[in-house]
Amino acid sequence: MESKIWLSSPHMGGNEQSYVNNAFETNWIAPLGPNVDGFESDLQRYLKDGSLVAALSSGTAALHLALILLGIKQGDEVICQSKTFSASANPIVYQGATPIFVDSENETWNMCPEMLETAIQDRIKKGKKPKAIIPVHLYGMPYKANEIHNIASKYNIPVVEDSAEALGSTYKDKKCGTFGDLSILSFNGNKIITTSGGGALVTKDNALKEKAVFLATQARDNAVEYLHSSIGYNYRLSNVLAGIGRGQMEVLDQRVSSRRKNHETYKASLNHIQEISFLDEPEGLFSNRWLSCFLLPSEDIREGLRLNLLEANIESRPLWKPMHQQPVFQAYPSYINGVSDNLFKKGLCLPSGSNLTENELNRVISAIKTYFRAC
Ligand SMILES: *Cc1c(COP(=O)(O)O)cnc(C)c1O
Repeated sequence: MESKIWLSSPHMGGNEQSYVNNAFETNWIAPLGPNVDGFESDLQRYLKDGSLVAALSSGTAALHLALILLGIKQGDEVICQSKTFSASANPIVYQGATPIFVDSENETWNMCPEMLETAIQDRIKKGKKPKAIIPVHLYGMPYKANEIHNIASKYNIPVVEDSAEALGSTYKDKKCGTFGDLSILSFNGNKIITTSGGGALVTKDNALKEKAVFLATQARDNAVEYLHSSIGYNYRLSNVLAGIGRGQMEVLDQRVSSRRKNHETYKASLNHIQEISFLDEPEGLFSNRWLSCFLLPSEDIREGLRLNLLEANIESRPLWKPMHQQPVFQAYPSYINGVSDNLFKKGLCLPSGSNLTENELNRVISAIKTYFRAC
């Protein structure tokens, strides 16, 4: 059997270990230290536009803190893109709030602006104005930021931008991760860069960054004794893991171009197969192509291809199952137009790692061609 080809595996650049060694040599084995500060400034330099970054233990923790900073509490409603990974929605429930799911549009696969406005108006009519909106840049493709943020401002609702999959993507030349009132990043093991596990909260407001760090380090008041006047969390990133992040930031641009190249190779080799359609970048949108995906004519063909690839020891995966279809979330209100259900039936994510070899890419491509008896 030929070796396993994974969907998206970690890809070290080479200097990560020296930053990690430095943490050991200086005994900064703690959720603070020079690598945490260094990683935060690397990210700030990369994101630009006055972004301030708090490095945290995960993207999920960053989303949770974002909702806490916005004052989301029991009984509130928060709008969330339905087509996403469950981590976008879970923190809403941590706060005792109600997720309201909104469907996607076909040009980016992300939150549909019209459905968003319908949902806001309907929630207001039913008596509650949503307290926040969580749109997601799925697979690195930016959501329609102008449209979504215009609607958010029209109704004066803050946006928590889930940029977990989109570090390195841009919308009209601005980096994803800088659009929200609060934005989040993830450095989980399968993301475009990784700290094994980690995340970040991004804001332009210094007081919010300070409050995020305060809450993430157990909310200790400024006093000699351990004095607490609010509930704290243990959400800070370890200085050891931040060392991995510093090494990864040195190669982020290379990672983006490798992933984009994977997508171009798949498209150039497979686009002539009539059953396959790729998602192109709308004008002004630049995707990091975290995962390369395509659509097939039906669920049966998608499942047939997935099992065929599996037999060739190649991992592939359906697009995220929409949250409004998940057993844990299906009782919550949702505003659905059929787009995310259709994408879930027909879409497949292909091996997309920046460390894929030419030989591995060719194995994937020829397995797909064999399935469709194409050449
Ligand atoms: C990975 C991911 C998260 C969560 O990040 P973690 O660091 O794994 O907690 C949130 N939202 C989306 C869309 C993701 O893909």
